[in-house]
Amino acid sequence: MKKIGVLALQGAFVEHIALLHHLKVEAVPVRLPQELRGLDGLIIPGRESTTIGNLMKEYDLIALMRELALDGFPIMSTCAGMVLLAKNVSGINSETLGAMDIGVKRNAFGRQVDSFETDLDIPAIGEPHFHAVFIRAPHIERSGDGVEVLARLPNGVGVAARQGKMVVLAFHPELTSDLRLHAYFMSIVRSER
Ligand code: GLN
Repeated sequence: MKKIGVLALQGAFVEHIALLHHLKVEAVPVRLPQELRGLDGLIIPGRESTTIGNLMKEYDLIALMRELALDGFPIMSTCAGMVLLAKNVSGINSETLGAMDIGVKRNAFGRQVDSFETDLDIPAIGEPHFHAVFIRAPHIERSGDGVEVLARLPNGVGVAARQGKMVVLAFHPELTSDLRLHAYFMSIVRSER
């Protein structure tokens, strides 16, 4: 059975763990460096990227997580987690992992319209459209050659992407009961490539 760690410093880690349990996957919270050992994949939840970044440093997780990410370890991250995985970020006051070749803009949807829900076409998981919850979300400004943009808003802006075994989502699948993106991540975890 595959074992997935969910970074549990801040944010909706309980919901990610619950969704993984629905998929019959072993899921455990990660707060300490030694808890990164023996995992088959990692989820970085959202909330506030500067805070999570600073906590990752304080808990001595950041160097190990960076090593894993650069080494091709399967990681799915949502919202603030996407910010932390990106190579370039505008407006963040903490270190990031810098592992995925994307440029990300924080709070990209502005202050007033900072939260919304919309149905996204995500070909990688097929029909029907995925009901996506955006909460003060980032978006993808730039993506490198090795990056596949998995979903865009109608105006063309990227809100989900994959590079190798890393998946980033600007929205919060853990706040819905749709298991497909977590199942998609598990198929990446299980794939040999
Ligand atoms: N705006 C937050 C940040 O950039 C992310 C919000 C979220 O994770 N829901 O840190």
